[in-house]
Amino acid sequence: MSDTKPLDRREFVKRSGTAAGGALLLNTPVAALAAARQTIPSRGYAAIDTSGTLVPWSFERRALKDNDILIDIRYASICHSDIHQMKGHWGPQQYPQVPGHEIVGIVAAVGKSVTRFKVGDRAGVGCMVNSRLEQLDGVENEEQYSPDTVFTYGYPEADSPTGISQGGYATNIVVRDHFAVHIPDHIRLQDAAPLLCAGITTYSPLMRAKVRKGMKVGVAGVGGLGHMAIQIAVSKGAEVTAFTTSADKVADIQAFGAKAVVVVDDPAKLAPHQGSLDLMISTIPYQYDVAAYVALVKPYGTFTQVGMPERFELTVNALGLSASRVNFNASLIGGMAETQEVVDYCADHQVLPRIEIIRADEINTAWNKVVIKRARYRYVIDASTF
Ligand code: ZN
Repeated sequence: MSDTKPLDRREFVKRSGTAAGGALLLNTPVAALAAARQTIPSRGYAAIDTSGTLVPWSFERRALKDNDILIDIRYASICHSDIHQMKGHWGPQQYPQVPGHEIVGIVAAVGKSVTRFKVGDRAGVGCMVNSRLEQLDGVENEEQYSPDTVFTYGYPEADSPTGISQGGYATNIVVRDHFAVHIPDHIRLQDAAPLLCAGITTYSPLMRAKVRKGMKVGVAGVGGLGHMAIQIAVSKGAEVTAFTTSADKVADIQAFGAKAVVVVDDPAKLAPHQGSLDLMISTIPYQYDVAAYVALVKPYGTFTQVGMPERFELTVNALGLSASRVNFNASLIGGMAETQEVVDYCADHQVLPRIEIIRADEINTAWNKVVIKRARYRYVIDASTF
């Protein structure tokens, strides 16, 4: 075997295990492959068509580069976006594709230029994993608005063996260190996972609207995102009114700290709340009567849509908007600095998602429950079951 030819994997792992590995971080066979700049074997659950049914799948991650870290995934949670994208609701997809963008685990290997993480650190990954830019310091605005950002799954990635990024329903992931956050010791990993999308997606517009004590905040749709929006807003001192179509969620919503709960089983239920809110966060991920909910916001207040329906389309009645000159916008996750901020904030203030741990072979059942609104409120997959 010549010096330049890559070592056979089995041979490399064997040698690494006995040679103490020098300065390299060879605490696992997979980490040894990372150190050898070879592609990384991974195992997870993938969609293979638009059916919404996932199957076990083994695949290769891209080789570790100087600015990358390899994370042994411990937990990955289920976001409604996973389901939308795998079913092709947001456009045609390449399959097999591994979903999952709420990911936590332990750093297993680091590239030689990585300074922010070391092996053994607790790390989280959300909706972004890489950038085509060499330098990320100068990114204008936040990373999610950069055309060079690679999102966590289904996104073209030249050096990925499958040609696209593959998500977190898997045993491990390789990401550029810039796109990982630290998970503090005072929050359990399984509680931190949902913060990486549901947490930041709701935290960011609340902070943008300068959520504060006494502010009247509405939350429309109380699932994974909505239950975080309520708890974050309440922790900031806001008076929250929640709007749900599920009557059996009322007690939970009160426990999350909402001051009022409106069960919208009839559109007339909205009328008494017209013009009452400073801010509305809508997490509803399907078509609905937007104008009816916009009307609940005070004139010049703010309405932020964070739920993403099929084809990303919502029909908005212009008169409904003009009637109160409400600032209507939509928001996409948050930047990496703010993602670290929400993880730290939720750990410090014990603002935690309500989760249910599941095994990998329960993912398909869980997806169904998300679709029929039976999730309470975030399913978290135990990655040791992949
Ligand atoms: Zn998500």
